[in-house]
Amino acid sequence: MQDIEFDRKHIWHPYTSATNPLPVYEVVSADGAEIELADGRRLIEGMSSWWCTIHGYNNPILNKAAMEQLSKMSHIMFGGLTHKPAIELGRKLLEIAPSSMQKIFYADSGSVAVEVALKMAVQYHYAKGNADKHNFVTIRSGYHGDTWNAMSVCDPVTGMHSIFGSSLPIRYFVSAPESKFHGEWFEDDINELKSVIEQNAGNIAALILEPIVQGAGGMRFYHPEYLRLASELCREHDILVIYDEIATGFGRTGKLFAWEWSGVEPDIMCIGKSLTGGYMTLSAVLTTDHIAEMISENYPGAFMHGPTFMGNPLACAVASASVSLLLESEWKSKVDEIEKQMKEDLEPAKVFDTVKEVRVLGAIGVIEMNDPVNMAVLQKRFVEEGIWVRPFGTLIYIMPPFMVITKEQLSKLTRGLIKIISEI
Ligand code: PMP
Repeated sequence: MQDIEFDRKHIWHPYTSATNPLPVYEVVSADGAEIELADGRRLIEGMSSWWCTIHGYNNPILNKAAMEQLSKMSHIMFGGLTHKPAIELGRKLLEIAPSSMQKIFYADSGSVAVEVALKMAVQYHYAKGNADKHNFVTIRSGYHGDTWNAMSVCDPVTGMHSIFGSSLPIRYFVSAPESKFHGEWFEDDINELKSVIEQNAGNIAALILEPIVQGAGGMRFYHPEYLRLASELCREHDILVIYDEIATGFGRTGKLFAWEWSGVEPDIMCIGKSLTGGYMTLSAVLTTDHIAEMISENYPGAFMHGPTFMGNPLACAVASASVSLLLESEWKSKVDEIEKQMKEDLEPAKVFDTVKEVRVLGAIGVIEMNDPVNMAVLQKRFVEEGIWVRPFGTLIYIMPPFMVITKEQLSKLTRGLIKIISEI
């Protein structure tokens, strides 16, 4: 059986049928901003492997970090033991995290980081003697991952988990802010959150949201004022604020972290995806001394979570190299240039009747269509044009590996995009 046939018959791919799956393309290697397929075709990478590969593929510095660590140890349990890669990464993260964040919990993936953050909030209130505060409030159009509690705070419709509806814990949902990032602030936007919080603060542990950019739940960019007012409300009612920066972290929006657009620090922050430059899975949950002390100085005296691969040295070593590489570079001007070019290049899409809106923030470009696109047809056409773009629903979007993509590569990506949209 040919490899691709075996794959089709036995291997499940994300969000597609196992019996009649959408086609997959075999990749043999990837370098910089290009992916090489088994048939020799080369594609310009428009997705950064779902927000991750900010430094591109096969990066010599990240390769070196991985290989050096591999020759020492790839893994060691974190219970009772520690190591340089975890410590060095921790030092770097504290330098760039909101200043109030002083404690770091390493986890395995974005979804697990979200689980950890939610548990942290519940355990904090439990430790404080408020065991009734164990529910969460969030905004619609959000996406926080695939595990159980992460699913429960995803948008019930666009968050991809609607069929699990009745088996998920019921959370408080309020409308996502209508005030756009680049637009004016509508004062009414905060009212729904205000009234839900005022009526239910007694059982709400935390507000969780993706700051500024809502990713997989709708690719929306909203106004920073929402974060400021939401934060104030939460402080007034002893509700913790959790920012899910898993997609937005490490420069993607034009700030190192998206919360910086608002200037308001969260109580708990989740990071992942490009933390390792997209080399492997690792996430982290950062929080304040106050929260860590409350949890640790009350029964049972420890935070009740501890995954097998916590603080994996290989992942931490690569993450450490990735963070340094980013900070030592001119990442901000690269993101700004990409933003400028994408604004110009994607503008022509506005003339098509099929297009609802074109929006760009940092190194994220979104073309929202009026109707859902045919993924199978579009994916094939994108590959024929030599670009890798994976749309979903009504959204065709790109977030290229901003540290390495050249102007020409980005032009090829946006030209291909406009050409194919013109055919819809
Ligand atoms: N939060 C956000 C904002 C995400 O975009 C994602 C992944 N799309 C997750 C959490 C879940 O991360 P992972 O897929 O690594 O579990």
